[in-house]
Amino acid sequence: RGVSKHFVLNGGVFGRAKSTVRALDDVSFDVPHGASVGLVGESGCGKSTMGHTIMGGLSANSGEIQFDDPERGRVDIAYADSELRRHVRLNIQMVFQDPNASLNPRMTLADLVAEPLIINKLLPKAEIPPRVAQLLEQVGLSPRYMDRYPHALSGGQRQRVVIARALAMNPKLVVADEPVSALDVSIQAQTLNLLKDLQVEHNLTYLFIAHDLSVVNYFTDETVVMYLGRVVETGNTRTMFKAPLHPYTAALLNSVPRLGHGKATEKRAPKGEVPSAVNPPAGCHFHPRCPYAQPICSTEVPPLRTISAGRQARCHFAGELPLVAAPGQSAI
Ligand code: SF4
Ligand code: MG
Repeated sequence: RGVSKHFVLNGGVFGRAKSTVRALDDVSFDVPHGASVGLVGESGCGKSTMGHTIMGGLSANSGEIQFDDPERGRVDIAYADSELRRHVRLNIQMVFQDPNASLNPRMTLADLVAEPLIINKLLPKAEIPPRVAQLLEQVGLSPRYMDRYPHALSGGQRQRVVIARALAMNPKLVVADEPVSALDVSIQAQTLNLLKDLQVEHNLTYLFIAHDLSVVNYFTDETVVMYLGRVVETGNTRTMFKAPLHPYTAALLNSVPRLGHGKATEKRAPKGEVPSAVNPPAGCHFHPRCPYAQPICSTEVPPLRTISAGRQARCHFAGELPLVAAPGQSAI
């Protein structure tokens, strides 16, 4: 609720004035229990910063991050002390984009999966090997791989090891930051299906950070769209992708190539550069790129408003614009 995170940049060697980056600017959204919620936007919009703030790696300047802890009820983890943070950390796990960066190359697969169990003293020593075998089975890795090192595994297999390590803690919430974007397209669907199966088996909730909207459409129930540190639209993924309420959402959707048209790798971003987060445009941050901009848009920040049941948008004219999501045909 209302989470803000600012970074102050000093002037550097050229002695420029200090400036502030509002990486998160009054961000509010819900992640309902058992749901998969997508957090999307172009790079630099703040989605990874939000993930790291939830994980406690970054601390918010203001706002609340309420977590429904299975034992303690609703707790605010935005400014958790180290005891609460340690407790909650078991219940919230993160899966990163690059499995190579998150696995120690000198550890065998069995040791990698055992490590979180040992560090957090979750099990007596004798129970660790059978638990490791069980976790590997749950992520579809044969016990034959137990003694292998990460370099002897494929990218998809390495990501399964990362998922097994997260699962070892019996988490309630998994923050997945671009979990499949480093993988071959052929492996992406397998990995997404594994995550979906695990969600059902282990009653997991996902916050799924991604820039690939076709992946988000496949994987999530609800979507939160961010632009330059602000939430600009939230709602049911299917409804939003069919009929977006914010011109930025429409532009993102229209930049996704239509299946079977053109090269599958072709991606068109919304027209124009993403303005710098150091000095974002006044009023609606999107106004320099928005085809519907009016004079009020460059002076007044639009509030995030409820437009219809379960749907919010931060646009002065949300609900009044003739937006269409026509993949392959950029509106701007
Ligand atoms: Fe476009 Fe104005 Fe809406 Fe911003 S507030 S998205 S500039 S119409
Ligand atoms: Mg990122």
